[in-house]
Amino acid sequence: MVDVTDIGGFSPVLARALCHALQHLENTVHRPVCASTELAHLRSRFDRALPQDGMDPVQVIDELVRDVEGGIIGSTSGRFFGWVIGGSLPAALAADWLTSAWDQNAAIHACGPAEAIIEEVAGKWLKDLFGLPQTASFAFVTGTQMAHVTCLAAARHRLLSRAGWDVEERGMAGSTPIRLITSSERHGSAERAMRILGFGKRAVHALPADGQGRLDPISLTRALESSSEQPTIVLLQAGDLNIGAFDPFNELIPIAHKHGAWVHVDGAFGLWVAASPKYRHLLRGVELADSWTNDGHKWLNTPFDCGYAFVADADAHRSAFSHRTSYRVHVGDARDQIDWNPEWSRRGRGVATYAALRQLGRSGIAELIERTCIHAHALVMRIGSLPGAEVVWEPTINQGLVRFIDTKPGATEQDHDRRTDEIISRIVATGEAFFGGTTWRGRRSMRVSVCNWQTNATDVDRAVDATRRVLGNLAP
Ligand SMILES: *Cc1c(COP(=O)(O)O)cnc(C)c1O
Repeated sequence: MVDVTDIGGFSPVLARALCHALQHLENTVHRPVCASTELAHLRSRFDRALPQDGMDPVQVIDELVRDVEGGIIGSTSGRFFGWVIGGSLPAALAADWLTSAWDQNAAIHACGPAEAIIEEVAGKWLKDLFGLPQTASFAFVTGTQMAHVTCLAAARHRLLSRAGWDVEERGMAGSTPIRLITSSERHGSAERAMRILGFGKRAVHALPADGQGRLDPISLTRALESSSEQPTIVLLQAGDLNIGAFDPFNELIPIAHKHGAWVHVDGAFGLWVAASPKYRHLLRGVELADSWTNDGHKWLNTPFDCGYAFVADADAHRSAFSHRTSYRVHVGDARDQIDWNPEWSRRGRGVATYAALRQLGRSGIAELIERTCIHAHALVMRIGSLPGAEVVWEPTINQGLVRFIDTKPGATEQDHDRRTDEIISRIVATGEAFFGGTTWRGRRSMRVSVCNWQTNATDVDRAVDATRRVLGNLAP
């Protein structure tokens, strides 16, 4: 039997974990970036009978590593261009391990004083980097999804309290309905936040985006005037998921504010361009908004899960979440995370962010942003110029689109769509590069998204070569 109370038990198992982790991370260059094990196989490996008796921790970890084989995709690799997914910076990963070792409950300052302060400082640094007001409040949440929920709960508080309704006390039934005006290019997480908060999907009014993927001032004005008495949230994009489009904040935010609307910005990855002198202009006026979201686990390359919510109206933010109980311990002017977060018990999520920001510094972040944009541009233009391919969207930042053409005579748009999906899956199956698909403006495209700090010119070459081979093998 294993003595589960033996403190010396940490040493062998953590040493094994380190060994396995290094093997995983150092072999990404050689390993396929796609999964190579069938779902049924994976399930049969893990779905053993719930054990009656315990076992040695080292064996647990060794068998875990053996069983995940082929089921871990290469999202930490420099050849992973699917969705918008970053890897992990060394300092951020190490800090995240320590966060688990320290195992603090980051609900309140008293449960983990150092982590509360780290979060306080990391929040201040992020506002500085993004050019947001230092008076804005913030929360470290699981990702932009929960950052939307956090920010929109603050918006709900403020808009309804202006209408004489205490939503925290009375709930939504009987209150004035709130609408959300946005563009057709929004991410689905905004809609989910609206569902979770009880607004419902029908409260979302999507206006068509212009040729550059932006909401235009005239249609926004018209929409705001159409029901001018209704409490309104305007959701703008700082980097949309397909083409990385930025709404013209300095034009749109003053219009929305003139109509009394709350402006919320989805900046899941796009807010990071604030760190780069080359791209910062894309965010002009973004600091005028009322709330913002961003992810650390995408372009900053912290491990999952790490997202940030920022709210200009700190009072509305606190009113939406703060909860005082008799057993909470208040320490001086300490920041209790629970006053700003939807969670109660939670992970000390600020630690990995703090470490990532220190590893890179301002210049390192700017360099990471600009380097990934260069690689995204090269990938899209080089793949798009291969026979049988075309560029659909030339990246302005780190997101672009290409499409594959069915060359048979009389091929239709549907044929090109099918061809595009087929080529994507064939590229992925080579294990050389990972791309995802999307339907953009009614047509299938391959998304090219570069977020990983490790992506280099060799990775770009390998991805282009793999695509060239796939297209060559399919040539008529
Ligand atoms: C990834 C993403 C989201 C969702 O963020 P999560 O961190 O996955 O919750 C929302 N909006 C945009 C633009 C995104 O790229």
